[in-house]
Amino acid sequence: MAQAFGTAESRLARKDVVQLAPPLLGEAEKRALSAVIDDGWITMGERVARFEQAFAHVHDADEAVAVSSCTTALHLCLAGLGIGRGAEVLVPALTFVATVNAVLYTGAAAVFVDIDSPRRPHISIADAAAKVTPRTRAVIVMHYGGYLCNLPAWRDFADRHGLALIVDAAHAAGMPEAARSSDAAAFSFFGNKNMTTGEGGMIIARRPELRRRLRLMRSHGMTSNTMDRARGHACGYDVVLLGYNYRMDDLRAALGLVQLERLGEWNRARRVLAQDYRRALGERVPGLEVPFDPEWPTSAHIMPVLLPQGADRSAVMDLLSREGIQSSVHYPAAHRFTCHRSLCGDVSLPLSEEFAARELTLPLHPRLSADDVDRVVTTLADAVRSV
Ligand SMILES: *Cc1c(COP(=O)(O)O)cnc(C)c1O
Repeated sequence: MAQAFGTAESRLARKDVVQLAPPLLGEAEKRALSAVIDDGWITMGERVARFEQAFAHVHDADEAVAVSSCTTALHLCLAGLGIGRGAEVLVPALTFVATVNAVLYTGAAAVFVDIDSPRRPHISIADAAAKVTPRTRAVIVMHYGGYLCNLPAWRDFADRHGLALIVDAAHAAGMPEAARSSDAAAFSFFGNKNMTTGEGGMIIARRPELRRRLRLMRSHGMTSNTMDRARGHACGYDVVLLGYNYRMDDLRAALGLVQLERLGEWNRARRVLAQDYRRALGERVPGLEVPFDPEWPTSAHIMPVLLPQGADRSAVMDLLSREGIQSSVHYPAAHRFTCHRSLCGDVSLPLSEEFAARELTLPLHPRLSADDVDRVVTTLADAVRSV
């Protein structure tokens, strides 16, 4: 997202700022929003149904369930699978905090799992296996940076231990394999993701029975929706389970339909830029590591690098910022947050902690130019040398 640049040394003209991950919105999005306003049907209408179908099609699925965010998507998946008090759910610590919070909303315990290695910062199957107990009901895996987890291996793991496999696919929109082999996968359309609806999310769940529950729970457990009633299909309704209001509206769905058409092309541009970065970083910034092999399948959601051990990251970030280059950290390890230490207990995850301490995220989005990449790498090389 665009950040405020108010400090004296960084009051650069906006065009000079290399943004981390701005949303790409234009005339097509404006027209799509206007059309919804002209039609007057603004929530859970025909556009939401069309967006669900189009998104399912891109992700190799029969159907998808649109919701208000990826956070609510994750919560809904867990609740729909009947996970709650007394259950344990294995989660990565190296993720956005929403992955963990969704578990805690249900009353289940979140059990933090370490990553494979700093070069491969996915949740580790070996560490997950060591943390399974008779109360474990599910595991959530996350496609860090858009680099796909090995879902067939996770399916085997989940089946061996009788667990549900839930995927936090917030980084992986547009990857047809992102939801494959899982019980349910949750996508995000937040403003800094590969496609956006402002706020918004989507679930892909293979089993029709689970999808039926998710649709019910998305809208208060009501047996009919507004459109059925408006069309005269239903004169009353029952509430058959405790649900939520996690619905998506047609304004967001209209944005989603436009963005989805561009997603494939945008993800290809991201992958090309990520390879440009890898090449230039390898040549010009000694001591820097880039997670994952260059050939790893990815939506190239972010451009993570690992600074040399002991480098002063905040000094590097300050120097970048002074040159008008936004950067970020993905992520502070979730098990170290004050809230999560108190709710989940003190645990030690050495690899996640090392990764969280060294990681730096560079700008990556489809409008970035080859010159921008060059400028970022040059500035980063200077910064790493000088701190
Ligand atoms: C963005 C993100 C979320 C939350 O998505 P929202 O749509 O903002 O709720 C969850 N997990 C990961 C890994 C994310 O990057």
